[in-house]
Amino acid sequence: MQRTLSIIKPDGVSKKLIGEVIKIFETAGFRIVAMKMKQLSRAEAEGFYYVHKERPFFGELVEFMISGPVVIMVLEGNDVVLGNREIMGATDPAEAAQGTIRARWADSKQNNIVHGSDSVKNAEFEIAYFFSGIEMY
Ligand code: GDP
Repeated sequence: MQRTLSIIKPDGVSKKLIGEVIKIFETAGFRIVAMKMKQLSRAEAEGFYYVHKERPFFGELVEFMISGPVVIMVLEGNDVVLGNREIMGATDPAEAAQGTIRARWADSKQNNIVHGSDSVKNAEFEIAYFFSGIEMY
């Protein structure tokens, strides 16, 4: 059993896709073990994406992530880290496989609806960044 962090980004929330995305996760067999809606502060978004701080798009990415509330979830399931990445699709919607969340709804490489941890190690850091043990069920 694995856990991963998922975020419905501000574009997913403003496009009213919270229900659609949750439905996709539950249909895939993932269990939602924690969930909250939150408006990230600049410091929170910068800390979350610190691995990208040297990348040219870091400033734009932070602006985007604080542009509206997000929905943050912990998903649990067999191979959920990779399984969630497959369901999300590639970062760039033009490269995302047909039927994936990003192929269906993302507008650009940046405005791509969902975040998902890309490894078990990063999932541990990202889950602990937003949730304490007693907030997971
Ligand atoms: P992910 O793991 O598929 O989310 O992709 P990355 O870890 O490479 O990038 C993190 C996030 O940064 C992406 O989900 C996008 O929101 C954003 N991003 C990635 N590449 C670019 C880019 O070239 N330009 C901009 N503006 N944002 C990007």
